[in-house]
Amino acid sequence: MVTAKQLDEQDGLRDFKNEFYMEEGQIYMDGNSLGLMSKRAEGKLLSLMDSWKNFGIDGWTEGDNPWFTLAEEMSSRIAPFVGAQANEVMVTGSITSNIHQMLSTLFQPTPERSVVLVDELNFPSDIYAVESHIRLRGLDPAMAMRKIKSRDGYTLEFEDILEQLTEDVAVVLLPSVLYRSGQLLNIREITGAAHDKGILVGFDLAHSIGAMPHHLHEDGVDFAVWCHYKYMNSGPGGTGGLYIHERHHHLLPGNAGWFGSDKAKQFDMDHHFTKAEGAGAYQIGTPNIFSMAPLLGSIEIFEAAGIENVREKSLKLTSLLRSRLVNELPELTDVTPQQDEERGGHIALSHQEAARICKALKDKGVVPDFRAPNIIRLAPVALYTSFDDVERTIEILKAIMDEELFKNYTNERNVVA
Ligand SMILES: *Cc1c(COP(=O)(O)O)cnc(C)c1O
Repeated sequence: MVTAKQLDEQDGLRDFKNEFYMEEGQIYMDGNSLGLMSKRAEGKLLSLMDSWKNFGIDGWTEGDNPWFTLAEEMSSRIAPFVGAQANEVMVTGSITSNIHQMLSTLFQPTPERSVVLVDELNFPSDIYAVESHIRLRGLDPAMAMRKIKSRDGYTLEFEDILEQLTEDVAVVLLPSVLYRSGQLLNIREITGAAHDKGILVGFDLAHSIGAMPHHLHEDGVDFAVWCHYKYMNSGPGGTGGLYIHERHHHLLPGNAGWFGSDKAKQFDMDHHFTKAEGAGAYQIGTPNIFSMAPLLGSIEIFEAAGIENVREKSLKLTSLLRSRLVNELPELTDVTPQQDEERGGHIALSHQEAARICKALKDKGVVPDFRAPNIIRLAPVALYTSFDDVERTIEILKAIMDEELFKNYTNERNVVA
């Protein structure tokens, strides 16, 4: 048996932990909700504030990272992390606003094909966005939004997805990794099957970007959206991203704005909109420079670490966590798929006392993540979690369960949970 200590000694990514701010002695298992601040992210934010301080309006074109082209520059460096061409990615918006932009651009319902297919386990905001689009087209969500059902309440079966890819579906929007169970869907197979039926395919990469590599272009995915504040560690409200395959770049943005202009024409102030060539066309207004700045630091860290290495370590961490759980804590039901190819970056445990177990964990120095009604999510993030942190988490969790320490807390969620 290899020990956690040995795994840490062999870990090529172990020094990245020193790049992040964390409370002394705390084990942070919540990087899938909000990643920690790195020193490089902080440095870039301060540097962009300096541009404002030193250059005033000239910060748009002066300084280390001129604001006017900042989003475009960052996008070409984010593209490799989603497996896209540089012109297919844009750092902009939030997940929800980017879903709106992608649907307003790509969802063109006809009487024969008007359904948007989603799944019943999807994140509420994605569903709200889809419903509102259907209503804006004068359609009824009860008819035009269809949900793929889950057999076990945690995961989706490929067969069940396939069955719902029917000729009346215009667009299918699915998560790459399901936010509760951590199930990783097969992006390539789903995209192929949907395209065979003439259906456009979009993925929400909220729980896979920064946790694993992607191949969006090669897989032929039509569009994707994501945030950078989870595994990418860009800070609360950090600007998100979108991908749109080059085959759609002729389309005018459904929601147009001046930052979607061809950069050379933008300041002509012409009422005729000349859209940018690539994914840049789907930007709307002035970029939130200070919400993008930390990502510049994060990108450097990921470029240095290598996303393949991050995925490899992440799988080792979640494998260790789950093997220790099975042995030591069988009362916590592991609902994350077993196979590496079907798992994202976290492990989800179900227990009826989940809310109060999470509160007890936090008081003991382990920051978990609770998802109503009964899920504990533990995300041992590769860049700042050691194998020893996983061992210590198990010990603490075991004490909480064996000594029923969770009974000192109420079984209700906090406001942000
Ligand atoms: C985190 C998350 C969101 C959040 O959307 P924002 O618009 O960035 O607030 C949406 N969808 C999924 C699947 C998420 O995990």
